[in-house]
Amino acid sequence: MSGNPPDAPEESLDPADWPALRRLGHRMVDDMLGWIETVRERPVWQPVPDDVRVALRAPAPRLPEGAESAYRDFQTQVLPYPMGNVHPRFWAWVMGGGTPFGVLAEFLAAAMNPNCGGGNHVAPLVELQVLDWCKEMLGFPATGSGLLVSGGSVANMVALGVARNSRAGVDVRKHGVRAAPPLTVYGSEEIHSSVQKSVELLGLGSESLRLVPVDDQFEIDVAALERMIAADRAAGARPLAVVGGAGTVKTGAIDDLARLADLCAREDIWFHVDGAFGAVAALVPELRPRLAGMERADSIAFDLHKWMYVPFEAGCVLVREAESHRHAFSVHPDYLARAERGLAGGAFWPEEYGMQLTRGFRALKVWLSFKEHGLDRYARLIAQNVAQARYLASLVERTPELELVAPVPLNIVCFRWVGDRSRDDATLDALNAELLMRLQERGIAAPSNATVRGRYALRVANTNHRTRREDMDLLMREVCRIGAELAG
Ligand SMILES: *Cc1c(COP(=O)(O)O)cnc(C)c1O
Repeated sequence: MSGNPPDAPEESLDPADWPALRRLGHRMVDDMLGWIETVRERPVWQPVPDDVRVALRAPAPRLPEGAESAYRDFQTQVLPYPMGNVHPRFWAWVMGGGTPFGVLAEFLAAAMNPNCGGGNHVAPLVELQVLDWCKEMLGFPATGSGLLVSGGSVANMVALGVARNSRAGVDVRKHGVRAAPPLTVYGSEEIHSSVQKSVELLGLGSESLRLVPVDDQFEIDVAALERMIAADRAAGARPLAVVGGAGTVKTGAIDDLARLADLCAREDIWFHVDGAFGAVAALVPELRPRLAGMERADSIAFDLHKWMYVPFEAGCVLVREAESHRHAFSVHPDYLARAERGLAGGAFWPEEYGMQLTRGFRALKVWLSFKEHGLDRYARLIAQNVAQARYLASLVERTPELELVAPVPLNIVCFRWVGDRSRDDATLDALNAELLMRLQERGIAAPSNATVRGRYALRVANTNHRTRREDMDLLMREVCRIGAELAG
């Protein structure tokens, strides 16, 4: 391609017909808000049909089909087959369903389209305010630093990266981990897989992640942790960080964060809290005491796109020592040189606090959502989700053919169909797996699964602001019905 001849008319990607795009835009807003408004009437999930799969393998278009036609393709090939997480009966893994205003906020952010890596403009200031609000929400010191990231996984990685660089005892940035003594990281057996990914990516190796046993509440055994730390020190390792779980992914257990904070202070170990969904339970006065000690962490990872219901993606990392945080990532090449005034001024350059240089305006949807609802309303919704989970647990306990397989400290319920209890565990595992697939394939509800103490369980993780108690009733009815159907 040689580019345009010098006399060819110049083009841009803006529409030739602005009024037409404006009309299309209004229609898209109406369509999508209507789609969310009526989501309860549709199946939670349905598989992508073969003809759509074929269409989605077509080669890249060389010629324009136009916005109208592209939008039609979206309506026929994409929109009918969502993941399901917007639906009131979606409780798989840990997912938020977003909000209608959050959708509009994404539109505003995309229209402004700033690069939030740095520079002297308003977006980094909005992000700073959001970070301040997050610190306030969790009782974290205002002097701490933070960064909005894609989610809890990256938040964990950033936090553990800061821990590694500031506590390894050598200049890791310059010499790498090979210059350090063996570095070890601790977390319970229930810790999230993203901690392992982080430890691997940080060059520590998954062997350096020590998995500590849990008690009957699925909380970390602190005495066992202490013994493991002592043994590692005796063997010449340098214990780097302890990861406390504030809402573990399988059962919603909350480790004894105050005891972990004490232990880490005594042992001079970095205390990180993975509170991906659970940390924001601190907004609820009745739940806050359960999280005591979190505010003493050196770093916290949590999500805004899970239990704060903000559209994907929005996670956050907070770090107590702001200077350590910046020092782990800051590089000053000449092409990113700061200026006293003008566009390259500005005190907060988010790119100095993480891996991303070009960054979208994630902060805006958080900022607008917090303003729309106010934090007290989020607190009520989080409390409502917990109450609904307890309600579901009580239904399970009252139903003879069902069995609760884990405690319900927060918003996650793990249970299984056991029928008349005459079947062995292997049979029940297979039966419950089939039951779950039927629930999903019939579009009734979308729990996910978990293996709890070796048993296959259905797992309902309720971070869904659209869920009502009647949805729990319906789930119970359908689980029993399909269970009986499978029992034959
Ligand atoms: C979801 C989750 C993560 C990962 O967060 P993402 O936002 O999915 O990257 C980490 N830890 C826990 C406990 C989680 O539930």
